Amino acid sequence: MFNIVLDNKKYKVQEKISIYEFLKSNNNDKNVVAARINGSLHDLSDCIESDCELEAIRSNELDGLDIIRHSCAHLLGHALKQIDPKIKMVIGPVINNGFYYDILSEKAISEKDLKSIENTMKKLAKKNYNIIRQVVSKTEAKKVFTERKEDYKLELINDIPKNEIIAIYHHQEYIDMCRGPHLINTKYLKHFKLMKVSGSYWRGDSNNQPLQRIYGTAWDTEESLDNYLKKLEEADRRDHRKLGQRLDLFHFQEESPGMIFWHNNGWFIYSAVKDYITSYLVNNDYDIIDTPQILDKSLWKKSGHLDKFSDLIYEVTSEDKGYAIKPMSCPGHIQVFNQGIKSYKDLPIKYAEFGKVHRDEPSGTLHGLLRIRGFTQDDAHIFCTPDQIENEISDLISNIYDIYKVFGFEKIKVELSTRPEKRVGDDSIWDKSESSLKSALDNNKVIWKINEGDGAFYGPKIDFSLTDSLEREWQLGTIQLDFSMPDRLNASYIDQDGQKRTPVMIHRAILGSIERFVGILIEEYAGDMPLWLAPTQVVILNITSNQENYCNNIENSLQNNNVRVICDLRNEKISFKIREHTLSKIPYIIIIGDKEVADNKISVRTRSGVDMGQMTVENFMKMLDTHVIEKSLTI
Ligand code: ZN
Repeated sequence: MFNIVLDNKKYKVQEKISIYEFLKSNNNDKNVVAARINGSLHDLSDCIESDCELEAIRSNELDGLDIIRHSCAHLLGHALKQIDPKIKMVIGPVINNGFYYDILSEKAISEKDLKSIENTMKKLAKKNYNIIRQVVSKTEAKKVFTERKEDYKLELINDIPKNEIIAIYHHQEYIDMCRGPHLINTKYLKHFKLMKVSGSYWRGDSNNQPLQRIYGTAWDTEESLDNYLKKLEEADRRDHRKLGQRLDLFHFQEESPGMIFWHNNGWFIYSAVKDYITSYLVNNDYDIIDTPQILDKSLWKKSGHLDKFSDLIYEVTSEDKGYAIKPMSCPGHIQVFNQGIKSYKDLPIKYAEFGKVHRDEPSGTLHGLLRIRGFTQDDAHIFCTPDQIENEISDLISNIYDIYKVFGFEKIKVELSTRPEKRVGDDSIWDKSESSLKSALDNNKVIWKINEGDGAFYGPKIDFSLTDSLEREWQLGTIQLDFSMPDRLNASYIDQDGQKRTPVMIHRAILGSIERFVGILIEEYAGDMPLWLAPTQVVILNITSNQENYCNNIENSLQNNNVRVICDLRNEKISFKIREHTLSKIPYIIIIGDKEVADNKISVRTRSGVDMGQMTVENFMKMLDTHVIEKSLTI
């Protein structure tokens, strides 16, 4: 007899029992997909043999969903092997919201094939096959996959350390190698969809065998699957790359991968964001500076960047000397700090730069404005004494919240990462700064999470992620203390006692990369930029050529009041012109016919199709002013 603790309740069991049987006998089997015994994951078919703590993993939990997704990857493998037994299975891991399987197939699989593969999966799932786990030796595993001609699985087996156990899972004739756990029966796989096919390489290396990757998504209920697919549709509608082209904001081309060609409209948005941040910084006592793009390699060697980020740094030569294009602005800011002797009375010193940086990111990871090689950091460095840390951090936190709010983001996740094993600096400075960061967070009434040991070797940090309207998280802001770089690059100040001291350096970014932030904004607003960020704010349309002069006069008076306005006097049907400008997402459309001219008024429509009726130009301008001054998110 032994005890099982489940949800803080104790159960006495007479003899060895399978997890599934045990949960079922206690009416605890609803939506259960796997379990933890004393903290480690198990299949439901595994047995309980001694005292233990049991935790049921249910299908709606993240771990539970992963198990469904992983089992679904095996089901995809089964279907593919039935369709073409010569297909070789490579790896099939779980990813965010789903799974993929890399395969080698003689006949290329196309998107058109996905529906029929999916149907085969559905048919197989309905056969209620038990999914069975078996632990085997390396030799046995090799035998199984040699018989099945799974060359890649054999290579993977060779990578497994000698003493590690190998688990294979099979249902009906399909066998796969996997750590598990898995569902106990294919009948629980119902709510899935194959999404797309793309190319990949064996071991992710483009010198190796090209493979095909089939992506799928899987969920616990039909409702969750539908919600996810709707969200994807919405994300596609908001895709900043598509809107970027449609609204003539920017483009990319092969000659400069990961670098942006900004067009007039997109550059306007970029500049408006930058101007707003600049004015905010000036009001908060920052010095705005600008440092060189290209600096001698010896400086990057001294700062430590050349050793740590060599893969990401673009190098250039001039007159036989080696230079690096800056991947970040920190060392440059220390050079500015080092000009002249600094006293404790001068601190804190806050340098901000819109630093254009270049990082040679792998081409496969580039993604529109969100992942690029050339971008602008809204970077700043604060040089202060250890006693000033808390105050500075506290200000920074409230700055970050202020700025995110202006753009409409109020759901912010905050994480504090503390000292790692390997680190520089005395424990006393770590103690002081970690407690300063904590009190600064608490004083700002922030809800935060701690990541023990996740800080950089040179100091603790706070990261800020915001959640957009599609519930996607974006890590943007960061505040990092640095006890190393000022010392490496000889920064110092004279303290009260006339002693030379090394200042603490705080690296901080609020938006991260302006380019990426603009990408996030385009998606968040679905291209409907708030009035203050809209490249063109108003378009004036005439109904017939009779109103041309009147339209030009209105345009002039709006321009004189700094409204960004255009006139469309083309000889086209008014309905056609309204439609075209609505699609280009201009916030306000003014329509002028004979009646408006006679009444000396204008008729106003919004891009969302709301007819605001007739008004005077003066009232219209007052309304625009209010929206711009308040940075209203809606029009
Ligand atoms: Zn920095």
